[in-house]
Amino acid sequence: MENGAGNGTAAVAAWNFAPNDALLGLTALSVRGTLGRVKAGMVVEDGAFPVIPLGHGDPSAFPCFRTAPEAVDAVAGALRSGEHNSYATSVGLEPARRSIAQYLSRDLPYDLPADDVYLTSGCTQAIEILCSVLARPGANILLPRPGYRFYEARAVFNGMEARYFDLVPERGWEVNLDSLQALADRNTVAMIAEMARKLGVFVIADEVYAHLTFGEKKFVPMGVFGSVAPVLTVGSISKRWAVPGWRLGWIVTNDPNGVFHKTKVVDSIKSYLDISTDPPTFVQGAIPQLIENTKEEFFDKTIEVLRQTADICWEKLKGISCITCPSKPEGSMFVMVKLDLSCLQDITDDMDFCCRLAKEELVVVLPGCAVGYKNWLRITFAVAPPSLEDGLDRLKSFCSRHSMLKK
Ligand SMILES: *Cc1c(COP(=O)(O)O)cnc(C)c1O
Repeated sequence: MENGAGNGTAAVAAWNFAPNDALLGLTALSVRGTLGRVKAGMVVEDGAFPVIPLGHGDPSAFPCFRTAPEAVDAVAGALRSGEHNSYATSVGLEPARRSIAQYLSRDLPYDLPADDVYLTSGCTQAIEILCSVLARPGANILLPRPGYRFYEARAVFNGMEARYFDLVPERGWEVNLDSLQALADRNTVAMIAEMARKLGVFVIADEVYAHLTFGEKKFVPMGVFGSVAPVLTVGSISKRWAVPGWRLGWIVTNDPNGVFHKTKVVDSIKSYLDISTDPPTFVQGAIPQLIENTKEEFFDKTIEVLRQTADICWEKLKGISCITCPSKPEGSMFVMVKLDLSCLQDITDDMDFCCRLAKEELVVVLPGCAVGYKNWLRITFAVAPPSLEDGLDRLKSFCSRHSMLKK
């Protein structure tokens, strides 16, 4: 008989298990989950009409963003040495921690000790750890909007409340300090901005896009202000080296006054690391060589391509009706643009827009709702220039096809 029923096993009245319900709603807060929904209706046939991925920030597949050969050599060397096949220590291998400390100290007014660096499986696990470490009952965390909703997902999953302060599009996405202050209370544990000292909280600085700037403003790490208010910096090699699959990130305590030791935050991070998994040992083993040997030309080239693709984006977006781009991107890999739904026929919101765009044009764009900004779009320009141009042209024809003629 089918399914094993009837071979003597008694029928089960009810299974005595159920999953953790808290997880079921969270995929909507993730970029991956949202892009999955956007792509669900897309029919891809082999042929001349390729899918243009303008949704996620992973340019590693494009030859013009291929990682530095020295980075590949570092990992291959670490593997060949046979010295990195064991479990690592829970905080990470000492040479890797030291090398990351030195790398980050180049931009700081003080020398970061190796002991202040904790290795994680990408910046993702760093965020996961911080959200667990901070989650005492009743705690809340202040997050920027638009922002990376993974923080909210992890915070909510750990029983914390996420509160949002606004970034101002007209002012180059600067923090609105009034909206920030209005949100904080006794239970606020952290925020991703200034004003932390005044409020007696610390700052989490997500510097995963460190050095990926190509405008007039240069990158300044938040750790520079570590003596004003303590800073937990999270970062990884995923974006600057274009190797998100290598899964190597870090948590760094930028805290010359030792506040994190006094408040036992450091002990709590170490405990978490003792009960979780580590980045692969051979990637940890490769870090000193990877950092030391990568040539400036590699970084310069990446920045040059990003500058060029940001320009393409800016110019092409200007020519698309129903979409406005408030400011030209000067860093990272994304631009936020506003949808004018009033001039688009039969499109209900940003999600609907993206689903239909994917279906009709095979162009994948992230709806703003996934970064807390309803009826906006987040477009990545970390794409090879010809693909980007193609994608934006298709976006334009989609918009003209669906636009209502303004009388
Ligand atoms: C990509 C990204 C991360 C995750 O980085 P990984 O190292 O790939 O885990 C974290 N924060 C932000 C803002 C990101 O864009």
